[in-house]
Amino acid sequence: MGTKITCPYCKGKGKDFFELLAPISFCIVCNGTGTVELEEPYKECVFCSGTGKNPLGARVTCIVCGGKGNNSNTGDMICNKCTGTGRASDGLPCTRCKGTGFNERNIL
Ligand SMILES: [Zn+2]
Ligand SMILES: [Zn+2]
Ligand SMILES: [Zn+2]
Repeated sequence: MGTKITCPYCKGKGKDFFELLAPISFCIVCNGTGTVELEEPYKECVFCSGTGKNPLGARVTCIVCGGKGNNSNTGDMICNKCTGTGRASDGLPCTRCKGTGFNERNIL
């Protein structure tokens, strides 16, 4: 069973975040329902700070969480490569934790 939360990408409005471009388009993350379902356990996405938006500035969903603002089954150990930021030095998602900031176990 998953948990339903308010879609962070459209803030529950069900409309596309960039509605200036396409006023009638539905949010691609929640398909216009305003909620998204997350598998337990989940953690807030550190890459987009839970916003679901791509922090790199592109008008797309966060490449780590897919716009849900949270990541499921990430593991509980803070990634020792990016120290939990989810970012590599070039600003792209950390290759070890895939941008979630957490690992099942850390490689020394
Ligand atoms: Zn949405
Ligand atoms: Zn994210
Ligand atoms: Zn990492």
